[in-house]
Amino acid sequence: MKFTLTFVTFLLLILTTSAQTYLIHASLVDPITQKTLPDQTIVYQGGKILQVGASAKIRVPKSATVIDATGKWVMPGMVDAHVHFFQTGGLYTRPDGIDLRKYKPYEQEIAWYKQHMEQQLRRYTAAGITTVIDDGTTLALLQQRDTFATKDYAPRIYMAGPLISTGYDPHPFDSLTDPDKPIYAVNSPGQAVQKVTGEYPYHPDFIKIWYIVLDPNTQTGAEKNLPSVKATIAEAHAHGYKVAVHATERITAQLAVEAGADFLVHDVEDEVVDDTFVRLLKDHHVVLCPTLVVESGYFDTFGGNYVPTPEDITLGDPEQLRSLQDLEHLPDTALVKRYHLLARMRAKRTAQQDSIRKVNLKKMTDAGVIIATGTDAGNIGTLHASSFFKEIHAMQQAGLSNWQIITASTLGGAKALGKEGLFGSIRPGLSADMLILNADPVADLAGLEKLESVIQRGARLYPEKVRP
Ligand SMILES: [Zn+2]
Repeated sequence: MKFTLTFVTFLLLILTTSAQTYLIHASLVDPITQKTLPDQTIVYQGGKILQVGASAKIRVPKSATVIDATGKWVMPGMVDAHVHFFQTGGLYTRPDGIDLRKYKPYEQEIAWYKQHMEQQLRRYTAAGITTVIDDGTTLALLQQRDTFATKDYAPRIYMAGPLISTGYDPHPFDSLTDPDKPIYAVNSPGQAVQKVTGEYPYHPDFIKIWYIVLDPNTQTGAEKNLPSVKATIAEAHAHGYKVAVHATERITAQLAVEAGADFLVHDVEDEVVDDTFVRLLKDHHVVLCPTLVVESGYFDTFGGNYVPTPEDITLGDPEQLRSLQDLEHLPDTALVKRYHLLARMRAKRTAQQDSIRKVNLKKMTDAGVIIATGTDAGNIGTLHASSFFKEIHAMQQAGLSNWQIITASTLGGAKALGKEGLFGSIRPGLSADMLILNADPVADLAGLEKLESVIQRGARLYPEKVRP
């Protein structure tokens, strides 16, 4: 008996020791210090990082699994801090933007996004995105979320509940009912609180507000909707939930932050922000996700000008990508003409807003506001996973340095929900979410796409195999 116990202990010891992986001789890209450390060893086991240090100082036990990363770069897994799984990225996904339900009933869209969750998640992993933050979903998808927690191929998923919308109730969605309703329009603080508390039994990871102003006078409109915003934030905070807010105007962003918002999921697009605004965000430790490319996705599609990127072709869903060209072939030519015209008319305004967003992003990043990279993937013309690289390119055009972009795409995403103690960098105690790259991403961001393998909570995955 005694012998057996000792033997079992011995076996366990062997098993635990051999389960340790030593990733040796890596150039370690560290977003905390914004330095690349040469010849590092990272030890991990059971999905957790145990030790990080100079290879010369860490002895590799004979029983360990070894990954030799000589000539390679290792960085934390990336985070897309703004996606929506209730949207497919295709042409039929936002009937409030373009109503094509006579060609494809919205019920088919709902069925599609539920059935394709696994494929979409695999695309993110294949892109090196090991965490996704869904900023507004349905109760049905919240329930689906938990089924992916133990799947190696799936990134870590955080989800807000359905969007708490102030004053905007998009008509094609208003007939939907739970669990497939993505938007709760509220008209009073009492209604807002009722909707938020109704989400708790589904365990959202945070609460999301759509602070939409329809009043042509944005100041008046913003103030009118503010009581519902305040009530939502106070209620969510009282129960320990962080609050993300969609606010695209300077005034809504400012009022939301003053009311306690933790995370802004859009850049300000109506005016160049001043130092007072920047200080407000810094003092409140607010994280800003600039979400630069989503709008052009809509108008490129509506204008018949959507050009797939190389990443759309390798990573994007082919069916949804094809649908972006459907508008040109619809029998309702009057509708097609109307949307072409809309795209042309909006082009100037879109370009103007785009340049304001970029100026603001550069100003806020340089001033030390915490930035998280995010795409708003799922919207028309913004495909899941592939659009991340378009967003990075736009951040580059805004004048951000490669380090600023890498930090926003890793550590910044973790900070969006206060999870930097769990992932976002490579430190002992954190989850083993890492990318092994064949090229230096700091020298050239193209290196982010030279992905040899992804280590997702300790499991090593290869892009070409994990992709659907
Ligand atoms: Zn969004």
